[in-house]
Amino acid sequence: KLICKDDPNKTIDSEAHKNAVRPIVTYNNICKSYGDLQVLKNINLDISPGEKVALIGPSGSGKTTIARLLMTLEEPTSGTIEVEGELLWHQKVKDKLVKANEKHLHQVRGNIGMVFQHFNLFPHMTILRNVMEAPRTVLGLSKEESKDRAIKMLEKVGLASKMDVYPAQLSGGQKQRVAIARALVMRPKVMLFDEPTSALDPELVGEVLEVIKEIAAEGEMAMLLITHEMDFARDVADRVLFFDQGRIIEQGPPKKIFNNPESERLQTFLSRFN
Ligand code: ADP
Repeated sequence: KLICKDDPNKTIDSEAHKNAVRPIVTYNNICKSYGDLQVLKNINLDISPGEKVALIGPSGSGKTTIARLLMTLEEPTSGTIEVEGELLWHQKVKDKLVKANEKHLHQVRGNIGMVFQHFNLFPHMTILRNVMEAPRTVLGLSKEESKDRAIKMLEKVGLASKMDVYPAQLSGGQKQRVAIARALVMRPKVMLFDEPTSALDPELVGEVLEVIKEIAAEGEMAMLLITHEMDFARDVADRVLFFDQGRIIEQGPPKKIFNNPESERLQTFLSRFN
């Protein structure tokens, strides 16, 4: 197995999920460095189908990198990632592990949806076109089917009435709800939310969190939620992971993490939110 040079030989794994159904996502001994900077240090993590996992921790602790690796926006320095048992960054050729080709990456990545801090809508397209675009071009669905799917998703995020306007005519909260619809329309099995409300004015945060909560309550999709909204993490997550300096320091159900944090680092981190 690939391990980091400074592998502490300690993996904090998810006991509760080890013996459960096959994980939808697995990080195996993942390390990521930028030059000399080790950003992730031997991360082991299983996410079960439908599980909602919140990532909390100080800025720079490696949370976004976890998401970016899964989105294939970054490549791990060592270790492997699996999605539904399929290797993401590697593929097996005649029993040998080789670097994945574009086609393989594309296929496995198709299960993952992501919503970023900044919504990145296409400014020259209407809201409906924004949501229809990927089903048409990536999934190759017909115009009718793409439109059907898109409208259903816009209804889900409460924006069907805005489908003919352009992004510039929407508030930040509405734009982010469109971005959520645009990710959902691809029917991913895992959704990543990377601080989806941190670029919003405070009064717009609630509507976006509400939409995410509703989607979470439907239960089918696994979710990885990177957030500084502790009340939201407490409400939505099945499990909370506390990251610090590239490691998972502590993890558990929200009640445990927020009411009975064990490590001093987590206690210090949480005290900032009180
Ligand atoms: P978080 O999401 O917890 O704030 P990140 O995963 O964004 O943490 O970042 C972890 C560390 O990696 C930070 O120190 C950040 O500066 C560094 N980092 C992230 N991306 C790059 C990059 N492309 N090049 C160099 N350093 C990076």
